[in-house]
Amino acid sequence: MRASRFFISTLKEAPSDAEIVSHQLMMRAGMIKRLGSGIYTYMPMGLKVIRKVEAIVREEMNHAGAIELLMPLVQPAELWQETGRWDKMGPELLRVKDRHGRDFAIQPTSEEVITDVVRSEIKSYRQIPLNFYHIQTKFRDERRPRFGLMRGREFTMKDAYSFDRDLEGMQKSYKIMFDAYTRIFTRFGLKFRAVAADNGAIGGTGSHEFHVIASTGEDALVYCPTSDYAANMEAAEAVATGARAAAGAALAKTSTPKASKCEDVAKLLGIDLKQTVKTIALTADKEDGSKQHFMLLLRGDHELNEIKASKVPGLAQNRFSTEAEILEVYGCKPGYLGPIGAKGPVTVVADRTVALMSDFVTGANEEDFHFTGANWGRDMAEPALVADLRNVVEGDASPDGKGVLAIERGIEVGHVFQLGTAYSESMQATFLDENQKPAPLQMGCYGIGITRILGAAIEQNFDDKGIIWPASLAPFELVLCPMGMDRSELVKAETEKLYNAALEAGIDVILDDRGQRPGAMFADWELIGVPHRVVIGERGLKEGNLEYQGRRDTEATAVPVAEALAFIK
Ligand code: ATP
Ligand code: MG
Ligand code: MG
Ligand code: MG
Repeated sequence: MRASRFFISTLKEAPSDAEIVSHQLMMRAGMIKRLGSGIYTYMPMGLKVIRKVEAIVREEMNHAGAIELLMPLVQPAELWQETGRWDKMGPELLRVKDRHGRDFAIQPTSEEVITDVVRSEIKSYRQIPLNFYHIQTKFRDERRPRFGLMRGREFTMKDAYSFDRDLEGMQKSYKIMFDAYTRIFTRFGLKFRAVAADNGAIGGTGSHEFHVIASTGEDALVYCPTSDYAANMEAAEAVATGARAAAGAALAKTSTPKASKCEDVAKLLGIDLKQTVKTIALTADKEDGSKQHFMLLLRGDHELNEIKASKVPGLAQNRFSTEAEILEVYGCKPGYLGPIGAKGPVTVVADRTVALMSDFVTGANEEDFHFTGANWGRDMAEPALVADLRNVVEGDASPDGKGVLAIERGIEVGHVFQLGTAYSESMQATFLDENQKPAPLQMGCYGIGITRILGAAIEQNFDDKGIIWPASLAPFELVLCPMGMDRSELVKAETEKLYNAALEAGIDVILDDRGQRPGAMFADWELIGVPHRVVIGERGLKEGNLEYQGRRDTEATAVPVAEALAFIK
């Protein structure tokens, strides 16, 4: 590819609504363009990465014996009514009517359609096991679309569905997919962790999530460094025992708000105020002009300046505006600042944060100042908060008894799920066994967030210059940067030679023939995150050399012309 014939559009500054690094860098690198809330055009540079993700997914799915088809985006409501999901899904399901007034869903996944396909196609045990997949646009009307491709409303997912005759077969299919996912995320070159995502009801392996490890991740992962135990926070909490769980259960029973002092709250939670709790007060301006005050109790070792330093978009530091804004930014009710999303240092804090609504005026950020007089706010008995209070914390004993727990943050990029017969029973998808007896098909479903991978990969791989793509996902593997191609015949000739050799070697190469000055040219490719760069200059050529620099290298290395490509491969 020649840069002059491709589309490159980079920005110095990210738009102000881009809160996290991946969103900022993807916007700056011209990979995506916002059309509406959670809806993006994949620009040529971004689409190149998406296609690489898809290619790896496709290869490994095919290799694992899954079969590709393509199911419609627009799906008749009747199918969704059969399984009850038409009602159950609520506002996340986008519904449209056609000209005849018939209802349709824009697919958020495709269990119904694939089950419908299979119930009419599969008659006999001889035709299974089967695993169908597609890579298709999804729409979920997310309550808080944000972070660019990370939580879009329109996004691309690979979703697969397996069909087996019995539980054993289904678990085998599940294992095959689990292993395929492990290969896929390894090939992406990302640090990831598979965690149990259910409470162990189905033999402890009913569902796993695959997370890319990143401090900005929305999910807390609980794992034991000295054993195989790994679960998402919800699953870990479900099996947690001890004081915190008991406190959470006690709170769950508190259906009416009750006044209590921080000391009492701390006691209930088993928190030692003196050792582990810091308090912070935040002031919110309500729409009616009055102020509302929040107090946070922080469990764990947190620096208050971590919170001061963090920036919440749209809000002044340490000042939360209207109730509506709090709801908008945090998706939680005023008085509750529990699981705050990915907000840099706050995220870490939030994991351990208990928020109390206080009814007195306070000065913000005064450590150990607000221990008394706090009320349980009216929202304190909300299930979300109770869940937060039941947090498993670092240092707790691992449920397998093989060590203590550690916690890290992750971005959910894949999810495998043993569905059993829930869909096949409600939709009567059966097969005939050897004795001509009908039985419901055992299903599994398996998703990968294709477009979310881009954001997750960047959250894990960037520096102050821009994105650092793992080689397998980079839009281009190699960029050739000639110095003065229009002035020097030698440079021009050598560049063309190298470009053709790279193409022949099967390297995804881009030749920057835009005639830009070196500084601007290098800045672009560092921002875009191409892993290998070769600079072709007259001075070097006269000594028989080119300049090679890997994206993570701090300086360029002179390499003999003949060895330039070998150096890359
Ligand atoms: P989340 O917990 O982040 O809302 P989910 O559990 O609802 O995700 P699944 O139904 O398990 O998502 O879908 C499979 C995969 O699709 C997820 O693991 C994720 O990678 C991706 N995905 C889900 N929602 C979105 C979204 N709004 N934008 C981009 N990717 C998404
Ligand atoms: Mg979701
Ligand atoms: Mg999830
Ligand atoms: Mg999921």
